[in-house]
Amino acid sequence: MKLPIKEHKSKHPASDVKTASLMAFVVRRGKVVTVGYNRRVFPNGEAFSQHAEEAALKKAGSRAKGATLYVLRFKKDGSRGMARPCGRCHDTLNRAGIVRVFFSLDNVDRWGKLIWQNAQWIEV
Ligand SMILES: [Zn+2]
Repeated sequence: MKLPIKEHKSKHPASDVKTASLMAFVVRRGKVVTVGYNRRVFPNGEAFSQHAEEAALKKAGSRAKGATLYVLRFKKDGSRGMARPCGRCHDTLNRAGIVRVFFSLDNVDRWGKLIWQNAQWIEV
């Protein structure tokens, strides 16, 4: 699966996120359905950090059911960072029906992998 990372990285609204930029892709049958970025949102007037996974899943809606999610972290120097989804995102992934997650690892061009099995996420 070749993700259109370059194309989307230029659109990343990272200006208000100081630590790192994260990007998530919902993929079905080899096609990118939606892309999400980490960013600050203000749902009730208070700043809330929306994670890239949450943004991508919100846009995907029911199309996330049975899909694969790829999540990447880019550090300031452009190298990849650990992007294993947090506990909050695990819950969101379950509710959306995502079955498989690939996440970037620190400083290497490989992926970590999680699958949803027996009502829990298992790293494989
Ligand atoms: Zn998260």
